Amino acid sequence: LSAPASRPIRELPDELVSQIAAGEVVERPASVVRELVDNALDAGATQVTVRLLAGGVRLISVEDDGIGIARDELAMALKRHATSKIASLSDLESVGTMGFRGEALAAIGSVSELTLLSRTAAQASAFALHGLSGELRPAARAVGTTVEVKELFFSTPARRKFLKTDATELAHCIEAVRRHALARPDAGFAIWHDGKLVEQWRIASRDQRLADVLGAELLEQSVAVDYSAGAIRVTGRAGIPDSARSRADQQFAYVNGRYVRDKVITHAARSAYEDVLHGQRQPVYALYVEIDPARVDVNVHPTKIEVRFRDGREVHQAVRHAVEYALAAPRAGVVATPLM
Ligand code: ADP
Ligand code: MG
Repeated sequence: LSAPASRPIRELPDELVSQIAAGEVVERPASVVRELVDNALDAGATQVTVRLLAGGVRLISVEDDGIGIARDELAMALKRHATSKIASLSDLESVGTMGFRGEALAAIGSVSELTLLSRTAAQASAFALHGLSGELRPAARAVGTTVEVKELFFSTPARRKFLKTDATELAHCIEAVRRHALARPDAGFAIWHDGKLVEQWRIASRDQRLADVLGAELLEQSVAVDYSAGAIRVTGRAGIPDSARSRADQQFAYVNGRYVRDKVITHAARSAYEDVLHGQRQPVYALYVEIDPARVDVNVHPTKIEVRFRDGREVHQAVRHAVEYALAAPRAGVVATPLM
């Protein structure tokens, strides 16, 4: 073995750092959709429109009616570690927004052609910024923001090669919006693909949104969950055993409005079905856990899909009991046999 050649230690250029970071955050078009819809909702949007071309590979545009980004902050929004959502460690510990790392736009911008178009209520017109080095141009739109992402991974062909067919990428993009839609029935969502409207969810009650997104049968074949233990509240719907499926593709869990894939919650929910579901049957559910933000760390994963609870047992118990009680309660419309 020859000794490795000695090379000087250098700081990597900013662009390259962002491209490396993008590897963690931006895996495929759906990751971009997730980040941009997070941003729209953090900005207080009540209507979010997602437009895609070729499964999102050619274009992802997310349009919102949120508070907008001021003309003088457009360039800042594209910088790495630049955020309006936290300013200190204590803010981080009680963060209530979806974003806070200030890296999504920088990461996405480093592997695509990104244009920001935004207008705040204080401005008479909108401004557009094409890339970090682009020029600010006046543009037309109502208050809110449009982020356009073109030619994802054009500069990183290795990544581009991992993309699947347009239909598969589209399905992942729709799934990303669906997860948001289930968390935020108070916002409307629309998805367009290649010029056609493919999904539309209007502002609704939470149960109605669940029916709109997951199908009316889900609502009919499920029971309401509403349980509190200490500082934890668990609400949502749990499918009756008959509605179980062979795949775990209808299991949605949220922590403080954030979609998560969490072992504690998944395990707790599954164990609530222990006595009524056998073999590999997978329950259907949408569970919303509300917990003091100080008791959950959301900063453990770049995409924040994983969280860490300060006390996992407390959450496990709450979720398990919540689902067990819901399943044990008599169902509306089902006449209980009177006890003699
Ligand atoms: P983060 O969401 O973690 O703050 P991002 O890179 O996603 O980081 O966004 C950077 C900043 O740009 C945000 O903190 C916010 O101030 C602004 N921003 C991004 N998208 C929007 C939007 N749709 N509406 C208003 N402001 C936005
Ligand atoms: Mg963000």
